[in-house]
Amino acid sequence: LSSSRTLWELVTRRAALTPDRPLFLQDDRTLTFEALRARAERVAAGLYGMGVRPGTVVAWQLPTRIETAVLSFALARLGAVQTPVIPFYRDREAGFALRESKAEFFAVPGAWRGFDHAEMARRLGAKGVFEAYDDLPDGDPSLLPPPPSDGTAVRWIYWTSGTTSDPKGVLHTDRSLLAGGSCLAHALRPSAQDVGSIAFPYAHIGGPDYTVMLLLYGFPAVLFEQFALPEALAAYRAHGVTVAGGSTAFYSMFLAEQRKHPGEPVVPTLRLLAGGGAPKPPELYHAVVREMGVQLTHGYGMTEVPMITMGAPDDGPELLATTEGRPPPGMEIRIVDGEVRLRGEAVCRGYLDPGQTAEAFDEDGFLRTGDLGRLTETGHLVLTGRLKDVIIRKGENISAQEIEDLLHRHPAVGDVAVIGLPDAARGELVCAVVEQPPGAEALTLAGVTAFLRAEGLSVHKLPERLEVVDALPRGDTLRKVLKYKLRERYSGT
Ligand code: ATP
Ligand code: MG
Repeated sequence: LSSSRTLWELVTRRAALTPDRPLFLQDDRTLTFEALRARAERVAAGLYGMGVRPGTVVAWQLPTRIETAVLSFALARLGAVQTPVIPFYRDREAGFALRESKAEFFAVPGAWRGFDHAEMARRLGAKGVFEAYDDLPDGDPSLLPPPPSDGTAVRWIYWTSGTTSDPKGVLHTDRSLLAGGSCLAHALRPSAQDVGSIAFPYAHIGGPDYTVMLLLYGFPAVLFEQFALPEALAAYRAHGVTVAGGSTAFYSMFLAEQRKHPGEPVVPTLRLLAGGGAPKPPELYHAVVREMGVQLTHGYGMTEVPMITMGAPDDGPELLATTEGRPPPGMEIRIVDGEVRLRGEAVCRGYLDPGQTAEAFDEDGFLRTGDLGRLTETGHLVLTGRLKDVIIRKGENISAQEIEDLLHRHPAVGDVAVIGLPDAARGELVCAVVEQPPGAEALTLAGVTAFLRAEGLSVHKLPERLEVVDALPRGDTLRKVLKYKLRERYSGT
């Protein structure tokens, strides 16, 4: 299976091997591997009848559902170029994706969660709008052209989260997504007996990445259209989920639930929490392992490279807590001037904007990630922040993450974002924005700086401003903190 050149080839091989095993479980519905193949082929024929050809750009903004995965694989069967848009996005982000990708078709759910996507599509002047919620296009597969044989053509345009600037359109091929899924599988070492779960939007690059792993190993995952506890936990128990997770925010949610019933497993079958995509405080790692009695492995990924490194279960607690793990075979990591650079099959082909592509790759073809990090003697990666997240005060570079890591040790700090704010005298000043856990003691700037001093932070890095908020602004996909919003909010105030 792992020698498949295209996603569709992998689907057909898996379907021939274990046709009747479940691939996706959602509410009381099941999609088997063969049903994915057969349904995607019919939908591909329906799309073909609508005028979608190999290379046609099709945008879709659909929630995490069995039908969405079927539509996505139908597009892969046809060899169309698909551009998934996160379902929570509204006119600004969705319009940006439609315009930049020049999509000729746009699949929407109709009204979903009280928002009318079809109406938005009309407002945006989108072309070829069609609903793809319960009913998908349908046609006779015998009329289809042969499936694509070249896995190196650009067939996917994904959008970065827009944490540091406008989202960037990232070009992927079937081959880069297949490589990403293999990397994930390499780290999680699943077996056919596992039951996984997709708690993040399927429109995120993790969707196909995770599905490739399911196809390679032949095990199912539970899908959630709207992820919310406690319904999600009930589904985990009903399906006997063994691998759950998504990102840091999910581990915290599970842990909070666990604390309501100490000693009683939240999901008895759960063996592993796995996720990535955002910083993970070591304290959270230790609390999850100790209190929940499950393994936790966390990885480093980005829209450009869905799986870069991931902790392996045999790394041991210290490395799992403090590093992002090691790269899988085929992923080369270089640190240049503190920045992480990457080369390998799972790396994207570039950006929609050729100028961005030229800037992003160095002379040896390594992608500049914009992330800061170092490699340990054992080859484990430690991320230390983002290039754009360095605060420069009086000419001194200060890492926001270093201060955040220390503040995570403070009992009255739930989550924290440290940002630089423009300051006439110093260039920038350091501001800590804190979200407190319920019932925590009130924080003061003096108390916080005394704590940081006691933790060994040097004086020139101490925050000079503290803001306490009910909730930090977060992105929709992985609930990452959107620092640019905080900078906007507090600049000049
Ligand atoms: P944009 O590129 O538009 O500014 P973004 O980089 O946040 O947005 P994504 O591709 O969703 O968009 O996120 C990838 C980034 O997330 C990585 O470059 C890195 O900064 C961060 N990240 C991913 N995994 C981890 C991790 N394990 N620990 C810390 N940061 C991580
Ligand atoms: Mg990025």
